[in-house]
Order: sequence, then C-alpha cells, then structure tokens
Amino acid sequence: MISESEALARVLAAVTPLPAETTPLLDALDRYAAQDATATVPIPAFDQSAMDGYAIVAAESSTSAPLRVAGEQAAGLDGGLHLQSGCAIRIFTGAPVPAGADAVIMQEDVRREGDSIVCTDAVIAGENIRRAGEDLCQGQFVLRKGEQITPGRMALLASQGLAQISVHAPPRVAVLSTGDELVPPGAGPLQAGQIYNTNALMLRGMLAQLGIRTSTQAHCRDDLPSTTETLRDLLQSHDVVLISGGVSVGDHDQIKPALKELGIEPGLWRVKVKPGKPFLFAQSAGSHVFGLPGNPVSSFVTFLLFVRPALLKMMGASEALLTPRRIPATTGTALSNPGDRPHYLRGVLTNGQFMPFGLQQSHALLSLSRADALLRLEAGKNLKAGDPAEVWLLD
Ligand code: AMP
Ligand code: MG
Repeated sequence: MISESEALARVLAAVTPLPAETTPLLDALDRYAAQDATATVPIPAFDQSAMDGYAIVAAESSTSAPLRVAGEQAAGLDGGLHLQSGCAIRIFTGAPVPAGADAVIMQEDVRREGDSIVCTDAVIAGENIRRAGEDLCQGQFVLRKGEQITPGRMALLASQGLAQISVHAPPRVAVLSTGDELVPPGAGPLQAGQIYNTNALMLRGMLAQLGIRTSTQAHCRDDLPSTTETLRDLLQSHDVVLISGGVSVGDHDQIKPALKELGIEPGLWRVKVKPGKPFLFAQSAGSHVFGLPGNPVSSFVTFLLFVRPALLKMMGASEALLTPRRIPATTGTALSNPGDRPHYLRGVLTNGQFMPFGLQQSHALLSLSRADALLRLEAGKNLKAGDPAEVWLLD
C-alpha cells in the first residue's frame, strides 16, 4: 500500500495538459488559460465622469456665482467640448470629461436656475472623475497561464476587446459504474437486494463542477467479458475512464481481471487512506483509468484526492489550484483515529469550527450530502474539542 502523497505524485506525473484551443469567451468559462494576456486598453480608457452632474472647475464651486451651462456630454462619442471659466458642462456617468474641467459636481449638489447652475456644495479638484488607467494600465497582466476563466475575468478580457481566448481542451471523460445490484434511478422500484446507482450521477456532478459538463455514462454487470469489452470501447474514445466499484478483491470485482485481459498493468493499486483504500490507477495508450471503490464516500474522497488534481492538470490549471482549498479551523468535538490510515471525516463548518456530521462509514450518504468540509485526521491522532485542525472546503 502506498501513501496518499506518493499516489498523487504518481498520478500527476502520468498526466499532461491537453492541447490549447482558441475559444469564444463564454465557452471558455471554467476552463484554464493556455497563455498569459496583458492589457492593451487601460481601464478607464479615458478620464470619465463617475456621476450624473456637471463638469466644472473645482475652485468655482465654492463661490455662489452661477455657472452657465454651456454644453452637454453624454456617455458615448467625445464631443470635444472645452470648458471655459464661469461655465459648466452637463455630464453623465461614463462620459469623457471635457478639456478644462477638473471635477464633476453631482446634480444633487447644484440648483438649476434656467441656463445656469448654482453649486450648493463644494467639490475639490479630481472629485467624481475616474482617471484613465487608474484601475488597469497598458501592459499589466489581465490573465496568467493556468488561471481559471471566471465571469469576472471574462469581463476583464472583454474590456480588452477580446472575443476569444486560448484555453486547454477539457478531457473526454467516461464514468463506468459496475455492479449487478445497481438500478438506474427512475427505472422503477427496487427488488430485494438491489440499490440505485448513486455514484454515476455523483461523479458526473463532480466533473460538471470542474467544468467538464459532458461526460459519457456506461454501466457493466459484474462479469468479465462485458466489463472487458466496455472498458476497451471507452478507452478508445476517452482521455479518462472513471470506474466506480469492482476494484477490490472480491470474487465479483472484475476491474483488475478486465485490465489484465486488455494487457493493462495498474500503475498503482491500494492507497493508505480511509475511505478509499482500493483506489486504482492505470494507463493505456494515452488514456487514463481511475478505479474508484464503490462505496459512495470512498468514490467521493478518492475523486477529490487523486482524480480532481489529475483532471485539473489535464485542463491546464496551475499547480496551486490542483488541491481543494484548505483553511485553518478548530474541531468542535473530540476526534480520534485509532486506525493506521489517515481518515477523512465529513462534517459541517460553522464560524471556523468543524463538527463531524452523521455516520462516518464509507457507505453513509446522508452525512456526505450534508457535509461542506472534510477534516483529515492522521493515523493514530487524537484531537480534543477546540484543537486546531486543517479542513478542506467542499463546494
Ligand atoms: P464494490 O467496490 O464494487 O465492492 O462496492 C462496494 C459497495 O459500494 C457495495 O456496497 C456496492 O453495492 C456499493 N456500490 C458500488 N457501486 C455503486 C454505485 N454506483 N452506486 C451506489 N453504490 C455502489
Ligand atoms: Mg461491486
């Protein structure tokens, strides 16, 4: 049995980023930048009004002398107006500031008297003006290789006039569930001994959260010929095959025998982690096989530990993004791990305090459905209530 860190290192060493492709910004959402991008358009692009009001000379706002409204500048094409002393120019939010003006007074702070305004409050030079380049200068980074395309970053890229961006292709992933006992949800009532297939949906949901919204779903009964054939087919047309169940040592666990039939030697099998010990990883002609234990929590945890980082690396994510976000917390209750493997506990995080929730066995779906954090408890470790602990955020 190998350690978690050794297993992760081996998996990551085996995968490489998929090719880059130029993609419309909206389609690039959630994917990872294949190149740096720098600003060519400053933000703001020109000195502009931050308010609806009047462009004036600030010093003239402190006298009660009326200022004649000599023109109007709306957001849009710059009318090239020039402010003269003793005058004001009507202006609106986002409009270019006319030459000669050094402030904008809000319309709420003036009294309109016919063609003139009287300032009822004073402004100082620069007030209510957004200066060109104060947010972003030419040449500044707008995106770095390996960063994720988020809606905010899409907006920044769009501000540069870009309609497309180079991002890595998402992997083609198949989810293969195994087990004679499984019935697809929606297929009618269960017969004695049957259960609904929960893992296929869960894993596809986890893929979708990573930005892999299309995945193939397949199912095999626990027999060697059909498992071998299905696996062979899926490997031909996918970068990654995620198998749920059948990777253990039971007489009906067909994944290792099927891989053997296909001439595929597992690169690793069995990891020192709870839940998730029977985790398997193998490679075949550019495709990657992840064998996740069938218990739902084991599938969930091993996906987070080993599959997610590998998929993110294939998607071109930077190294810092490969593991889930961890934050310091305290434990709300005493916890102990008498076993010889690190145990990932499911729980709820409230104001920085982690409380385990429900059953902690690997079949316990209710606790999985309620958990928003995982706490990793080292083998042989005991924690008292209030002790510091690092938790992983689930989102
Ligand atoms: P296995 O890894 O195939 O030995 O399965 C371990 C446990 O997980 C058994 O109780 C299975 O019934 C259960 N299991 C396997 N696959 C699934 C699945 N797709 N959905 C729900 N439970 C599963
Ligand atoms: Mg099984």
